[in-house]
Amino acid sequence: MDETREEARRNTRARFEQWAKNPTCAANTLSAVHNVRLDKAAEAIGLKPSFGQSPFALARGNNFEWGLFAEDASRLRAALERRACLPEGSAGFLDLRLKMNGGSRLAAVDDALAATQTWLQGLSEGDPQPASIVAAPMIKIPRGVILPEALLIIDAVTVVVEDGKPTLTVGEIKVFPDRGGHTDARELATARAQAGLYRHALEMAVDAGGWAADLNVARDGFLVFTWPGSNQPSIRPGEDLSYQAVRAARGFDRLEEVAGLLVRDDDFSADAPQLIQRVLEADTAYSEACLSFCDLAPRCHKTHIEKEHGLVLGEEAARLLGETTLSRAVELMNGAEPADDREADLQRQLESL
Ligand code: SF4
Repeated sequence: MDETREEARRNTRARFEQWAKNPTCAANTLSAVHNVRLDKAAEAIGLKPSFGQSPFALARGNNFEWGLFAEDASRLRAALERRACLPEGSAGFLDLRLKMNGGSRLAAVDDALAATQTWLQGLSEGDPQPASIVAAPMIKIPRGVILPEALLIIDAVTVVVEDGKPTLTVGEIKVFPDRGGHTDARELATARAQAGLYRHALEMAVDAGGWAADLNVARDGFLVFTWPGSNQPSIRPGEDLSYQAVRAARGFDRLEEVAGLLVRDDDFSADAPQLIQRVLEADTAYSEACLSFCDLAPRCHKTHIEKEHGLVLGEEAARLLGETTLSRAVELMNGAEPADDREADLQRQLESL
């Protein structure tokens, strides 16, 4: 039992990250809270698990991040200034990474948590020379949302002071290539979902610290990808994270509910068949992001195809179509008589595409 509990403690971050990719799915939430591996759940229904962390991808990700933050984050700064995420001539880099993650001075999680608190406190008190780039602030979620603890490391935060008030903007770093309009939609959805979660977590931390009147958390965020075929950063600024932050807030509520109701100390047994069954039977909330991390995605995707749900064409299509099925949408596009005002409105929108 001690070993399974230790294992649960060790992989909290991975479970939390997994949950963050789709915080509204009850199955994913149960999996994260109970420490039930999604690949095991997939195997139990005859699916072949396909995810796992390739050592090559991990090494590439670490290299990319290391390069961004080297020499006081000069490479990242230049890219952020080019896309007007920071003003030209911005200055100051605060490195809150742990030594094990490439940082230079913080050895332990408690040190990083304390340093992050000190940074936010200083900003709220009008730090005269705040660092404009902060690497890896670590936040303890102020509610008991996941067992045994919920720590979140935000990849990067920019700080811009206007009229004496600092605005903090969350950045998410991913090593996959930015291909403009052809960037992998699943990877984009995942990056946005995570950035939205980080935005929400930062807002909670600012609220909990009593700093909301003095610090502003930006509604939007920036994503850092790579230029295809290189390790140079490509910035996607001004990503509106409102939708993702609301999803994250709903997910937090759900996570807290599940953790509060169901988890007991003896529930940390990752492969227990009854827990796998519980995950398999839980409600789902399929999204594009699922395809990038969840081994149950083929099952959930198939269900949506059977239901002719717009999500199989992506989240934009789902938002446009709402509850209208794909075949009804095709009928409307082909001139069918709308049944009500909502369908008439949808028909107009489809015709204008
Ligand atoms: S694929 Fe299905 S089970 Fe997995 S996170 Fe998405 S909706 Fe949930």
